[in-house]
Amino acid sequence: MKTLYLPSEDPKTPETAAEIIKNGGLVALPTETVYGLGANGLDEVAVSHIFEAKGRPQDNPLILHVAKPQEIEKFCHDIPKAAYDLAEAFWPGPLTIVLPARDIVPKRTTGGLSTVAVRCPDNAVTREIIARAGVPIAAPSANLSGKPSTTTAQHVLHDHDGRIDAVVDGGPCRVGVESTIVDLTDGRPRLLRPGGISPEQLISILGDLVIDKAVTAQIDKDAVVKAPGMKYRHYAPAEPVVIVAGSREKAAAYIHRHFIPGDRVLCFEEELPLYADCAPLAYGKESDVETLSAGLFAALRELDDPAIHQVYARCPVGGGVAYAVQNRLKKAAAFHIVDSEVEE
Ligand code: AMP
Ligand code: MG
Repeated sequence: MKTLYLPSEDPKTPETAAEIIKNGGLVALPTETVYGLGANGLDEVAVSHIFEAKGRPQDNPLILHVAKPQEIEKFCHDIPKAAYDLAEAFWPGPLTIVLPARDIVPKRTTGGLSTVAVRCPDNAVTREIIARAGVPIAAPSANLSGKPSTTTAQHVLHDHDGRIDAVVDGGPCRVGVESTIVDLTDGRPRLLRPGGISPEQLISILGDLVIDKAVTAQIDKDAVVKAPGMKYRHYAPAEPVVIVAGSREKAAAYIHRHFIPGDRVLCFEEELPLYADCAPLAYGKESDVETLSAGLFAALRELDDPAIHQVYARCPVGGGVAYAVQNRLKKAAAFHIVDSEVEE
């Protein structure tokens, strides 16, 4: 199959992409979070092709993307006021809400669950494609399963050229990490995955938030969890990653003590001079955490090289979007963290 390359500024792109979706094809779409691999979310066969292309486990459900917030009423029932409040505050934007699913949503899309995740993305061309297709678009991140997510059209082509119908190129993603997921189906609102909308922002609307254990620790692959995707190893380059916590000086001393040729250092731009002899790669500025979230996956993909022995990674501290960066890096490191303030 030849993968069509569709620039988002081409006025014909929305119609071309929408036709492919309507015909059951796969189109990779730009959003503000990451590139998604999209198909008609109401068409079980089309959705099954997403799982095949990604090598995604069948029980890992997909997010349904809508063009307008009120469309969720077609796919969800018993929608609480909190969902409307969140939509009003953060849509279109990097927030996914889990709600009870209507029967029209195939079990293939929900990974067999009776709930469905919905989101209205902040990319005008992608919303126009959804609107023209006339169906919600189910789209997980467009990477091969387990690998770092795709934040450019080139990343998508690297993983899927010749195996999907088209990619819409909308340039690099602004947020760069996947959406925040909040579950509103079970008593108190529950954060299933941190993202571009921070816990602090959610609490400002909801007044309450439980942090699911899958956010803060490695989950056993046989465990029963709220967000099935969270138990799989994620976002990971080929080699082991270890996060080195602690002050700039202590972390640099630790890494210099342990570094051997073939290792790499993933650090902040401000730290590059400290690691001149340690093959450093910066993913953004510590002083501007949005550059870290925007640059993280591109850097993890660059480090996805079997020739690399081990990666020492520096991770930002604090809340806001730094919380999402911490979560993705910890998952890439399988929660392997050393504290350079105490460890030799
Ligand atoms: P991805 O699209 O690759 O970012 O993955 C989508 C994420 O949404 C996965 O981690 C899923 O586990 C989660 N998700 C999707 N639908 C649901 C649902 N109904 N309940 C809980 N989590 C969900
Ligand atoms: Mg993903």
